[in-house]
Amino acid sequence: MAQLSERMRALVQPHLADIEPYDPNFTPTRINLSANENTYPLPAPVHDAVVSALAATPLNRYPDPMSDELRGELAAWHGVAPEQVCVGNGGDELLYNFLLAFGGAGRTLVTCPPDFSEYAFFASLAQTDVVRVWRDADTMRVDAASLVEAAQQAHMVILTSPNNPTGDVLERDLIARVCAACPGLVMVDEAYGEFADAGTTAEPLLACHDNLVVLHTLSKAFGSAGIRCGYVLAAPDIIEVFAAIRQIYSVNVLTQAAAVAAVRSRAVFEPVVETIRAERERMAAALGSIPGVRVWPSQGNFLLVRMAEASRVRARLRDEYSILVRDFSYAPGLADCLRITVGTPEENNAVLHALEQLVAYGSLGKETR
Ligand SMILES: *Cc1c(COP(=O)(O)O)cnc(C)c1O
Repeated sequence: MAQLSERMRALVQPHLADIEPYDPNFTPTRINLSANENTYPLPAPVHDAVVSALAATPLNRYPDPMSDELRGELAAWHGVAPEQVCVGNGGDELLYNFLLAFGGAGRTLVTCPPDFSEYAFFASLAQTDVVRVWRDADTMRVDAASLVEAAQQAHMVILTSPNNPTGDVLERDLIARVCAACPGLVMVDEAYGEFADAGTTAEPLLACHDNLVVLHTLSKAFGSAGIRCGYVLAAPDIIEVFAAIRQIYSVNVLTQAAAVAAVRSRAVFEPVVETIRAERERMAAALGSIPGVRVWPSQGNFLLVRMAEASRVRARLRDEYSILVRDFSYAPGLADCLRITVGTPEENNAVLHALEQLVAYGSLGKETR
């Protein structure tokens, strides 16, 4: 495991001494299905709207700190007041600020791993204790009673629905029970919400639970991971904290302009999302029919799969087929698991074809060419 230099270990804050240096190790591949991006080309009308919005944006002025135009658009879409919306430089910035504002020494965050690794990372930066309510090792489902019990003592809870990387959604009733039980704040990370069945979002609970925060991003369904834009919906006094703590210019003018154009064109994304959902079901069935491959049902744009020697399979996919998927086999609770983003039909067929060769015919034993 990589380490900071001795000198830096002595100079950084003590709780950061064991932090790993960022590893920019990145292999360009023909097909990248490792980061749950939307791999479809941006629909032409959206592309055109974004390009003209960017062209019309003056660059000499600082951005509007609260992204008010975008905020208004998001509020109208989600049926909340603009005071209930805060925009961030990707969902990650909002997650980080959530921990920075409400976490800290002596405080606890409840999570349900295996989940998004950034939660525990940001918690460690903010010196926040993490209480882990582990998912069932086989079904990957959350145990409702254990979650509600843990929430009763928590300053913060983060739930992910659909969850990355397991793919399941949490019932709205359970989220309501967690909100009722928790004396602190409950964030529901809906980064993949657009890919889930209708009626699964926690948003209707905002009206009756003033400790609920719902996180969204334009990085996944909206095919805009590169522009870095996410947002939270919550009670106005919670949004005031997000607004007060953030770097005021973190959402730059180009991001704001592109995001407004993308959100206004949101109807154009619907057929793309439908195609990804259909491809997800096709892939789940096809992967599941390869002997020795386990697939969990997913409501996101990705599938969690388990197979023998997953790490090796992933390396061979990369080296022999130029296909990149995410290796989770080192992660607790995810032994021999890979996460495969659902791509275009061509990309998905390439993955299927490769896995059929690597797994089904037992060719793993052979040496890598
Ligand atoms: C991708 C993702 C996010 C946010 O990503 P950004 O690109 O920073 O907006 C948040 N939560 C989960 C679970 C994700 O997978």
